[in-house]
Amino acid sequence: MKIDSELINEIRNKVDIVEIISSYLPLTTRGKNYFGVCPFHDDHSPSMSVSKEKQIYTCFSCGATGNVFNFIQDYEHITFVEAVKKCADMCGIDLKIKTSSDDKIIKKYKTIYDIYEISQKFYQNNINSSLGKKAKEYLYSRSLTDLEIKHFDIGLSLNENDMLVKLLKQKKFTDKDLLKSGLANANENDIYDVYRNRIMFPLHDLVGHVIGYNGRAYDDETTNRYVNSKETDLFKKRDFLYNYHRAKESARSKKQIIIMEGPMDVIRAYTIGIENVVATLGTSFSASQSNLIRRLSDNVILCFDGDAAGLKATKLAITELGKVGILPKIVLIPDNADPDEYIKNNGSEAFQNLLNKAIDIMEFKTILLKKETNLNSPEGVANYVKAMISEINKIDDDILKEVTINRLVDETKVSKDVIMSKLDNKKKELVITPKKKQTKKNKYEKSVQCLIYYMLYNEEVIKMYDRKITHIKDDNYRHLAFQISAFYKKHGYIKVADLLSEVDDVNTTKTIGSIVALELKDDYTKEEIDDYLNNIKEFNDLEKIDKYKSELAQANDINEKIQLANKLIAYKLRSEEND
Ligand SMILES: [Zn+2]
Repeated sequence: MKIDSELINEIRNKVDIVEIISSYLPLTTRGKNYFGVCPFHDDHSPSMSVSKEKQIYTCFSCGATGNVFNFIQDYEHITFVEAVKKCADMCGIDLKIKTSSDDKIIKKYKTIYDIYEISQKFYQNNINSSLGKKAKEYLYSRSLTDLEIKHFDIGLSLNENDMLVKLLKQKKFTDKDLLKSGLANANENDIYDVYRNRIMFPLHDLVGHVIGYNGRAYDDETTNRYVNSKETDLFKKRDFLYNYHRAKESARSKKQIIIMEGPMDVIRAYTIGIENVVATLGTSFSASQSNLIRRLSDNVILCFDGDAAGLKATKLAITELGKVGILPKIVLIPDNADPDEYIKNNGSEAFQNLLNKAIDIMEFKTILLKKETNLNSPEGVANYVKAMISEINKIDDDILKEVTINRLVDETKVSKDVIMSKLDNKKKELVITPKKKQTKKNKYEKSVQCLIYYMLYNEEVIKMYDRKITHIKDDNYRHLAFQISAFYKKHGYIKVADLLSEVDDVNTTKTIGSIVALELKDDYTKEEIDDYLNNIKEFNDLEKIDKYKSELAQANDINEKIQLANKLIAYKLRSEEND
């Protein structure tokens, strides 16, 4: 569902962020701002400031920033639209009446939601009928009880061609609807059920609507062990995690989320009281899934199958999670087993032990590398150390780096000095820039920040920025400036709290937080803004000059040299004018 942005802003205007956040956590006043303990990091002193005037919050410690909707969204782990709805309810705005253009979208999806709801009841009925006896016995034989069957809404598709299709047609759904839902297939003359004679594990969206199935064979005759629903408008594998809607609460209270591969793993974990678990359905981990995980916790345990495919999936997930700043821990299940089998055969305590001994990503990489090398030969050790050094160079986290180096020293008896001397020190070199350029760089960065600060509060400054079309080198700042300008063009005004409703990437939100926290004086002069714009331009020129200089040094062709020299002179003249 999409809500019109004008309506979103209207709702935001009707509520007070201080009042809403106060209903979640205690706030105290200091000056014109309110302060509270930040719920988005492990906060011990009140680091979160809430501004009544600006209607936004910012955390000085972790950088969390947003408007009232962002707060509810992140606090309750719900979607942005759900947060808006929640606020609308609080101030008595009926979204349904006012979103007539969006009704079509809801209606479009409503058909599929309805089809799935009916199918789920149908499948559940089947498994509880006499026809479901064999399927239930199969589940019992796998040590599941009626409790899990009910909790996870497990059902059964019967060994018939078109039972579900017939039922849905009776309820006046069209062939087109049925095909669109992904629950029916068609050939030249017939439309028939996709799922036959399978145990049906419903797949839910983030808030708990059924949007697909994992259909599992339970007799030996069926060849495909399990079949997942094909993708539809509502079910996209890259945006999906099994059990997300149930795991939300538990992940939040335990401050940890465990990721497994299949529904059976999740259900088995539930039988031993572990509820903060989601599953990927064995597909490769996506960027979008990383973002879903981050909304629950950054304390992540990967617990994939113990076979080669599981190791491969683990490697991919480490990479994807790394991109959103999460360093997961890893559980390696022994003997190629999956978590389901392991728990069933070894019990709760043994599995809890595995969880407690989850290893860090470097230990995981060490294990993989060791499998490939012979550590009994000096040559093998040398290759192993080299490979590990290249892995250490990829780590950003200083503590993990140090721990891994010490481990490597212990293990190989290669001295720490030797290892340290082989490490990449590129980052240190980068810091050493000529002093003049460094001061200009500082001036440039400050100008960018001040410019954007005033753009956030003044239409006049946005217009000045638009007229000059100034290029900002830093991605986050450039993107933010662009978004401010786009917001102004769309709505004809600028307000940080409303802008935050339209920003959907974390980096931009954090950048807004850091800019707002500058708390510059309210008034500005046009000359000041012109200064900022000129400083930005000047620094860009300086960068260009450096670029031409190095190109000039490398150029061989005389014509090319002359051309570059001319460009260089032109830029130099311009930048000196501004000095
Ligand atoms: Zn915080």
